[in-house]
Amino acid sequence: MHLSQVLISTLREDPADAEIPSHRLLARAGYIVKTAAGIYTYSPLMWRTLKKIMQIVRDELDREGAQELMMPILQPRELWESSGRWERYVADGIMYTLQDRKGADMCLGPTHEEVITAFANAAVNSYKQLPINLYQIQDKFRDEIRPRFGLMRGREFIMMDAYSFDADQEALDEAYAKMSRAYHRIFERCGLEFGAVQADAGAIGGSGSEEFMVFADAGEDAILRCPATGYAANVERAGSIPPEAPAATDPAALEKHETPDIRTVEQLEGFFSMPAAAMAKTVLYEATWSDRDEVVAVMMRGDLEINEVKLVNALDCLALKLADDEKIKATTGAEVGFAGPVGLSEDVRLFADETLRGRTNLLTGCNETGYHCLNVNLGRDCREPEFADLRKARAGETEPGGGGVLEEVRGIEVGHIFKLGTKYSSAMNATFSSQEGKPAPFVMGCYGIGVSRTAQSAVEQNHDDAGIIWPAPIAPFEVVVAVLDYKKDDVMAIGTKIYEDLRAAGVDACLDDRPVRPGPKFKDLELLGFPLQITVGRKAGEGIVEFSERRNREKVDLSIDDAIARCRELLADR
Ligand code: ATP
Ligand code: MG
Repeated sequence: MHLSQVLISTLREDPADAEIPSHRLLARAGYIVKTAAGIYTYSPLMWRTLKKIMQIVRDELDREGAQELMMPILQPRELWESSGRWERYVADGIMYTLQDRKGADMCLGPTHEEVITAFANAAVNSYKQLPINLYQIQDKFRDEIRPRFGLMRGREFIMMDAYSFDADQEALDEAYAKMSRAYHRIFERCGLEFGAVQADAGAIGGSGSEEFMVFADAGEDAILRCPATGYAANVERAGSIPPEAPAATDPAALEKHETPDIRTVEQLEGFFSMPAAAMAKTVLYEATWSDRDEVVAVMMRGDLEINEVKLVNALDCLALKLADDEKIKATTGAEVGFAGPVGLSEDVRLFADETLRGRTNLLTGCNETGYHCLNVNLGRDCREPEFADLRKARAGETEPGGGGVLEEVRGIEVGHIFKLGTKYSSAMNATFSSQEGKPAPFVMGCYGIGVSRTAQSAVEQNHDDAGIIWPAPIAPFEVVVAVLDYKKDDVMAIGTKIYEDLRAAGVDACLDDRPVRPGPKFKDLELLGFPLQITVGRKAGEGIVEFSERRNREKVDLSIDDAIARCRELLADR
């Protein structure tokens, strides 16, 4: 393609709302133009990159036997009610809903489990048709609370979503392993530095959920990983061996101490000369289920923190927030900072983290302003709480297997694979006829890749001060042949010939024949980030051109043939 025929509109200034390099660079290079918050138009060059990513996705999924189809974006409320998710998504505010002219409620698909499950129920009758894995690549719609970072968190974005249908758990395990393999190859081919990490699997729990994370400081997710053992998990899900606490002592008599204005763990450490690990803090939350709101109390060892995702799973609630001051006063009868298990109303569910199991003589609040209780023994001085793992693992702690120390890194979630089991098929009564001739619910998996987010992640990992450095397999063009003296026909002819020879050799090249002076032309090309460049300049008449890689920008003089050969060589393993 001749760049003089391509719409290119680079900006001199960074857009005001761009907080991270990849957003800044994509906008400045004119690859994306904002239509509304979290909604973008992809330029022709950006669309080339997105199509290349989609092609890689298709190649690798097809290789594993998945089949592409296309589902509707516009979906009726009844379908979402059959899975029980309409209310939840509406309450969350994440789903775009609308009414048609007859007043029927509809939504724009934020995800497609309902549609695909209904489709499989209609189209698959017998176990003989299984296994099956269906995918589509399409725009998704989510009314995100904070659309930001360009394509990273959009309200309309491109997703590949796949759904597997199997007869039993074993077959699901196999489908999941295939997708994991395909995902590894996809992100490798996109030129990303990434890793698969254990992810929160919701209230169902289990080990069947992994996120594919592109490592980058701008990532919205925190990952804990252990270089020694390879353990890696989203902090939402991560486990660890907790730091030691002082040895438990024989239960002593309960004491009530006046502690005016002593409310925080730090203040208590000083006041009682006690380590935080000998205390239990009690935090009140307001949890929401589809039919009610409730205040729950959660006890955590004083030196540790609560993981709210684990708490949501333990409660199997829809949402959770810290109780406000009013709620705390109404529930405990005391000011903020004095909540505790002793004397807590029986109406309030009481949870405690596993690290408090078997602990004795704890220091806690006692639901009275200005007082704390010493030597609290759970089950003796208060109810026995419901124990669960509610603790947030932290960097510096030992990984769950004991093999090494956890470190924290940031990541961008570009993909997610998830064993659903029969959650949707049971709820929606989607069945097939089993080998025994009985109706059985499909055993399902679901799999997503953020295609537009992946494109921007590549930029987040591959750029310098001057601009983007596209990994070759997803670059809009692999090589640019830049003609400097565009007014001289013989120089242009040499450039055109090089461009055509590259094309003939199967290289995705473009010719920069734009009537632009060398300075601005180089600046543009650095910003746009094509991985390889052949510059046709002063020595072109002698058969010498300049070859450079965008990654290091070092220029070398080569004969035309050598420059073409170098391009082919560098692109050989793509
Ligand atoms: P997140 O935790 O980032 O909100 P999610 O877990 O809700 O994402 P999934 O439902 O797992 O997202 O969607 C599959 C993939 O789609 C994600 O792994 C991510 O790459 C991409 N994705 C999700 N939400 C967005 C968004 N708002 N903008 C761009 N890509 C997104
Ligand atoms: Mg996800």
